[in-house]
Amino acid sequence: MGIVDVRTGLGWDSHRLAAGRPLILGGVRIESDLGLDGHSDADVLTHAVIDALLGAAGLGDIGEHFPDTDERWRGADSIALLEHVAQLVAGAGWTTTSIDATVILERPKLKPYKQEMGERLARAAGVATDRVNVKATTAERLDAVGRGEGAVAQAVATIVRSS
Ligand code: MG
Repeated sequence: MGIVDVRTGLGWDSHRLAAGRPLILGGVRIESDLGLDGHSDADVLTHAVIDALLGAAGLGDIGEHFPDTDERWRGADSIALLEHVAQLVAGAGWTTTSIDATVILERPKLKPYKQEMGERLARAAGVATDRVNVKATTAERLDAVGRGEGAVAQAVATIVRSS
């Protein structure tokens, strides 16, 4: 009897908040005075999901695939990077069965955007929307995120060997 090859990957990312930047989370533009700073569009949530998928499939990390020293990725749409990574994972013989993520941001409140973020991430990852869950919380005014200096995201992805 063969084993069922199920693997899990963890993703974690953080970006600073800055003036004059758009706030994009899970591919969704969020109404905000401040946005996340970074080489790409700094979509911290999508970056965590990408690293979770790469980790599950044993394919390294986001920095290896999309180095921030490479001008090709300046201002990059992170959802497009996720689509690319989803293709790599599928091409390596894996089916993604679930993605769970948490984004930690003091303000604005993300509740009105969670469903759209989940749908956007699911579409990019090539999975059904009911296999993706996006959670949002604050840091309760603790630490740098709690002081409104940035955002953190965590994600877990589960994949199974395609039959
Ligand atoms: Mg990042």
